[in-house]
Order: sequence, then C-alpha cells, then structure tokens
Amino acid sequence: MTAQIISGKEIAAAIRAELAAAIARFKAARGFAPGLATILVGDDPGSVSYVAGKNRTCVELGMNSFQRHLPADVPQAELIALVRAFNADDAVHGILVQLPLPKPLDEREVICAIDPDKDVDGVHPINHGRLLLGQAIFPPCTPAGIQEMLVRAGTPIAGADVVVVGRSNLVGKPVAVLLAQKAPHADATVTICHTRTRDLAAHTRRAEILIVAAGRPKAITADMIRPGATVIDVGVNRIGTTASGKAKLVGDVDFEAALAVAGKITPVPGGVGPLTLTMLMKNTLAAAERRGRGGA
Ligand code: NAP
Repeated sequence: MTAQIISGKEIAAAIRAELAAAIARFKAARGFAPGLATILVGDDPGSVSYVAGKNRTCVELGMNSFQRHLPADVPQAELIALVRAFNADDAVHGILVQLPLPKPLDEREVICAIDPDKDVDGVHPINHGRLLLGQAIFPPCTPAGIQEMLVRAGTPIAGADVVVVGRSNLVGKPVAVLLAQKAPHADATVTICHTRTRDLAAHTRRAEILIVAAGRPKAITADMIRPGATVIDVGVNRIGTTASGKAKLVGDVDFEAALAVAGKITPVPGGVGPLTLTMLMKNTLAAAERRGRGGA
C-alpha cells in the first residue's frame, strides 16, 4: 500500500481562494478591510519566517496588515502597552503575538492582555474556555486546520478512534477537544497520549486517525501505525540545513516508512503548516464580521 498524500498546500490554496472572494464581498458591503496586527519579538529565524508569511498572506487576500517588530530585550510593560494599543485600534480586528516569546518575557501575561474578541490565534484563556464549552469564536489555528484537512481529505471523523500524541495547550489539548465535540465534523472518540503514556504504540496502533504533535523526529515509526489510518503529522523539527542553505524540516513521523502502512498522510513541510496560517486569516475575517454585530 502507498498512502495518499494529503497536500496542505493544495487544500490551503483552495480555502484561500474562497477567503479572498469572501473578503472582497465583505469590503464591498462594509466599506473597510479586515485588519490583522502581528507582533514579533526578537529574531528567531523560525518566528521571523512565520510572521513574514502571515503578513504576506494577509495582504494577498486583501486584508490590512499592521506589523511591529520589537527587540528581544523589550521591557514587558512596553510589549503589553503595544498589545493594548492594538486592542483600542478600530482598524485592527485581529492580534497575533508570535510565540514563543524570548525569555524572560512573561508569555501568559502578554496573552491575557489581548482582547479576547481580537484573539484570532485562539490562545487567550477565555477562548480556550469557549472552545471547551463548544462555543468557540476563534478555534485555535492549528487544531482548526487539522480538522479542515480531515474534512477535505474525506476522512470520516464521527465515531472514529482518534489518538493525539502531545498535550500542549497550543495543539494537543485543543485538537482533542475540537474533535470530541458533539458537533459537525467532530464526534470522535479521542485518546490523548504524552511522555507518561504507558505503551504508546498500543494506543497509536488502534488509531483510525493519528495526530502527532510531539516535536520529536521519528517519534512515530511505521510499526506504530494502524494499516490504512489517516496520519496527521504536526511536528516541525529543524535538522540542519539543505544544500541551498535553507532549514531542513522533518515531522514527527518516519514519513518514508509510514507511506507503506498509512492510508493517508500529511507531509512536512507542506502539510499542516499552510492550514495553520490559512485558519488565522479565516479567524481575522470572522473577527471583522463580528464588529458591529455586538461582538466586538
Ligand atoms: P510541546 O509544547 O513541546 O508539546 C509536545 C507534547 O508532546 C508534550 O505534551 C509532550 O508530552 C509530548 N511528547 C513529546 N515527546 C513525546 C513522545 N516521545 N511520546 C509521547 N509524547 C511525547 O510542542 P507543541 O507546541 O505542541 O508542538 C508540537 C510540534 O508541532 C512541534 O514540532 C512544533 O514545532 C509543531 N507545530 C507545528 C505547527 C504547524 O502549524 N505545523 C503549529 C504548532 C506546532 P509531555 O506533556 O508529557 O511533556
């Protein structure tokens, strides 16, 4: 068996075309463009490249992009003041603070300073609570992207045995909650695994949908995959540089070996990443649409 590759790039391109049309309709009807503000602190190459992609996509889709790049040693109070200024700015509908922040900045305090109604990354505690209650207004971008990929790849979710490897607040926990909701494109039976899980392979081998967000190359080998399963590899691990000097990226799954066992699988790069970015754009449009409807 050779697994079907789920192309995040192709799925993201299709969603972006839909979004560009929706944004054009929004601007014609409302007379203003949705606006996303990004805050980048420091010069971590990964973060610099992620934020550049977000700003570029924002403009490509017809939205306004407000960008601030602060030095790694910015005082906490100055960073919070910038977040509050964006909270108060009517042209800004969504705010994204690129995480992780350099030490010793207090990430939790910064996240809590974001107006929850502009928190298009879905990281504020209020938005985690809304997600848990099944009332998310901004589903967190990576989990929402994973759900969208499963839907568009034609993998049935309702009733499926889903195993999530990883329990971070950013990916593992929220994707588990999202797919277990009593809701369309959800209703799965979900197991969350982590470093204290006994016999990880026993869990992963019964997964019809295996979602891996461990941040460890080859955390999942072919023998840990149920034949025919859909495998979503969230991991992005930098393992040196390519001949052209770019970062060489691999996921958490032994991709080449997994191709022979899985039914469908996402590549790294070109899998979950493009969807994460696209969901951020979708949430920014949603934030602008809420404006004037008593939502913002
Ligand atoms: P994280 O905060 O480091 O969490 C990793 C989780 O995986 C932890 O819960 C950890 O368990 C668990 N884990 C690690 N090794 C394991 C193993 N061998 N067996 C079982 N569980 C294991 O990372 P994250 O923020 O969730 O990100 C995970 C990966 O996804 C990273 O590579 C990150 O770069 C990538 N990512 C990609 C996107 C995208 O858009 N493509 C978005 C976000 C993140 P414990 O809790 O027990 O420590």
